[in-house]
Amino acid sequence: MQDFVDAINNGASGDEIAAIPIPESYRASFVKREDAGMFEGKESWEKDPRESIHIDEVATPELAPDEVYVAVMASSINFNTVWTSIFEPLPTFGFLDRLGKESVWGKRHALDYHVLGSDGSGVVLQAGSAVRNWKPGDRVALHCNHVDDQDPSAHNDSMKGANQRIWGFETNFGGLADLTVVKANQLMPKPAHLSWEESAVNALCASTSYRMLVSQNAAGMKQGDSVLIWGATGGLGGYAVQLVLNGGGIPVGVVSSPDKAELLNQMGCEAVIDRKAENYQFWSDEHTQDEAEWRRFGKKIRSLIGEDPDIVFEHPGRQTMGASVFAAKRGGTVVTCAATSGYMIEYDNRHLWMKLKEIISSHFANYEEAWAMNKLIDQGAIQPILSAVYDLEDIGEASNQIHHNLHEGKLGVLCLADGEGQGITDMEKRERIGVEKIEMFRNHARKLENAG
Ligand code: NAP
Repeated sequence: MQDFVDAINNGASGDEIAAIPIPESYRASFVKREDAGMFEGKESWEKDPRESIHIDEVATPELAPDEVYVAVMASSINFNTVWTSIFEPLPTFGFLDRLGKESVWGKRHALDYHVLGSDGSGVVLQAGSAVRNWKPGDRVALHCNHVDDQDPSAHNDSMKGANQRIWGFETNFGGLADLTVVKANQLMPKPAHLSWEESAVNALCASTSYRMLVSQNAAGMKQGDSVLIWGATGGLGGYAVQLVLNGGGIPVGVVSSPDKAELLNQMGCEAVIDRKAENYQFWSDEHTQDEAEWRRFGKKIRSLIGEDPDIVFEHPGRQTMGASVFAAKRGGTVVTCAATSGYMIEYDNRHLWMKLKEIISSHFANYEEAWAMNKLIDQGAIQPILSAVYDLEDIGEASNQIHHNLHEGKLGVLCLADGEGQGITDMEKRERIGVEKIEMFRNHARKLENAG
């Protein structure tokens, strides 16, 4: 892969890059099928990604006509990397086996190792014979919606396609590697003012937040809407706060420390709830929720913005869903895409129907939504929320940080890029947008690190 890195760093033409042979193997992070039972009997929090994630050479898969090889300069850790590495709620090999039965090309994915990663930025090395809009040398950001374009159900909204999958989670050959194979319709132009790692952290979380809040496929936020955002400095929440502010709404950010509250204020989010300081106990025991605590939470929101939120941005799941349904405005919307704290949800249905609220499900984003989000980032309207950068060799540790909620924003990973800050091709635009805005999460994390 070094030949590619040298060519990219030396500004080689697309033809020159295309002339370099694709290696037979490449460095990748992966989990092994034989390890799927390794954490049996352990609690979720005891399962350690550092024990299950391996870094080694894997064989380069053949290229299908609608795919491209991408040299991955940088990638990012997502929560799905954590799920895969702790084999929860299920080992991901079942997804790969199902894909393996679907087609000749699908068969490549059903292996005894699963290459992780659902984000990436890099350079197209070779394009399959059916690829029209992309060519070797193109600098790209990758989104993770893996769609079967011959499936009729995928042609209104591809997220509703029967065979829709998340690349690197439900497919193999993910982005936490030096090379990846993606469908051409996963490619988006890399913003020229961002580094490789800043370009690599956005697509999965930002596009998910975009669909949840902005798209008519989910909450369809309007100017002036108030939005309660759980985990407001986390991967999803950090983009949600920006989307609400950019769209003329009023965010109420929930976080769990004064440092995160400070970061939210820095982002321009004035209404902040520190859930740890407030010590909300929505569950009085494993089976019982406490309506008095929901009321205390609702009262706090009203004290901050003078009303109940039009939209609740939900993803913690079991711990918070009862409170979310309660807190939403009469006629309001709870939009959910996840259930980090447990997927068997309980809420009081009377609060839902009597007050005509709705719960809307959302999952990643179709190509159009991901593209629209990438455009906002390219315009400098939304910033990357990169807070720390790891080498590919250290992604077990990075995943562990996310598993235990020890991070802010997004954790970037250097794959072929041999240092931070590379890949920026429009410095003037970067300065025009504002370096401080772009590096806000990184600088905040550095400040905390320096303070010990
Ligand atoms: P993240 O970076 O870990 O951020 C999640 C935030 O949620 C944390 O920063 C934490 O903030 C808050 N949180 C965690 N547990 C909580 C609890 N019990 N109660 C209240 N708040 C809690 O993760 P993420 O990338 O935002 O992803 C969040 C979830 O969404 C994960 O389960 C992930 O798998 C899922 N997801 C789904 C999709 C999709 O397409 N369906 C896409 C992306 C992510 P504080 O501690 O500061 O409150």
